[in-house]
Amino acid sequence: MTASAPLITLNNGVEMPALGLGVFQSPPAETVGAVEAAIAGGYRLVDTAAAYGNEREVGEGIRRSGIDRGEVFITTKLWISDYGYEQALIGFDGCLRRLGLDYVDLFLLHHPVPSDFDGTVAAYKAAEQMLADGRARAIGVSNFSERHIENLIGQTEVMPAVNQVELHPFFTQQALRAFHAANGIVSQAWSPLGGVNRYRPADASDVKNPLEHPTIVELASKYGKTSAQVVLRWHLEHGVSAIPKSVKPHRIAENFDVFDFTLTPDEVAAIDALDTGIRGGPDPELINTELYPFKVEN
Ligand code: NDP
Repeated sequence: MTASAPLITLNNGVEMPALGLGVFQSPPAETVGAVEAAIAGGYRLVDTAAAYGNEREVGEGIRRSGIDRGEVFITTKLWISDYGYEQALIGFDGCLRRLGLDYVDLFLLHHPVPSDFDGTVAAYKAAEQMLADGRARAIGVSNFSERHIENLIGQTEVMPAVNQVELHPFFTQQALRAFHAANGIVSQAWSPLGGVNRYRPADASDVKNPLEHPTIVELASKYGKTSAQVVLRWHLEHGVSAIPKSVKPHRIAENFDVFDFTLTPDEVAAIDALDTGIRGGPDPELINTELYPFKVEN
């Protein structure tokens, strides 16, 4: 029997699988097959974004898989070139059109734009409209700090259901996770396997790869699992949703084969202790359209 991921109930009652497939940097030509392989292997969550350039292929992969639309949870994200209220509505329409769907399960703002936070707030208000119209079942944010969320919720109505942030054994986001828990926001891990440290290393001669850390390698050996499986299990033990990316069918399967073992509280704590406090991705305070001039064509 194909295993299924545990479900996390979002703050509006919508259920989201805890484990899904990410497709950042998945080339469009490989994305259809990756999504099909994931669905066939039991995945029911796919995470894409307007900026990834593969929403069409995600939609195509889902259609080709033959699964009922209602059985799969699709997340996409509005890019910062589409912030502001009217532009965000156009951007959200573009996402749905490219995906070939009439609703998504989760719409996220991809980043805060702290230097133009009014535009960010206006985009979130457009997301609230999408929610009210039934074109999104839940809405949330990505890469927001505690301060960004406080600023946002002071000016809007709907508490974000999810904040998707960099989160892995070398960047555990303990304080932000506690803030999320206190506010009913689900923490979702991007680069759950520490991928950003490998494809965007701060120092190419000294790549900080959690999959090679002795603590994780030893646990993998103890359980007869791989390092990636131990790390994904660690996310699940924390109640964190994880969206590992792969375009390789054997890794897509490997990353979902994590429901037949558990880590003890001491083992979870041993992985927690690997935190370096150093993020691999960009500082959310610095995101704006000058740093990222890329524009999504709607
Ligand atoms: P991950 O931690 O998921 O790592 C992905 C990398 O690890 C890829 O190079 C992949 O290569 C490789 N990999 C996958 N599985 C394994 C395995 N079992 N063993 C060894 N290597 C493996 O990093 P990502 O940054 O891709 O994050 C995952 C997802 O999070 C993204 O796809 C995207 O959906 C989301 N994301 C969101 C961001 C945001 O700003 N909101 C930013 C970044 C990511 P290969 O494909 O060759 O297998």
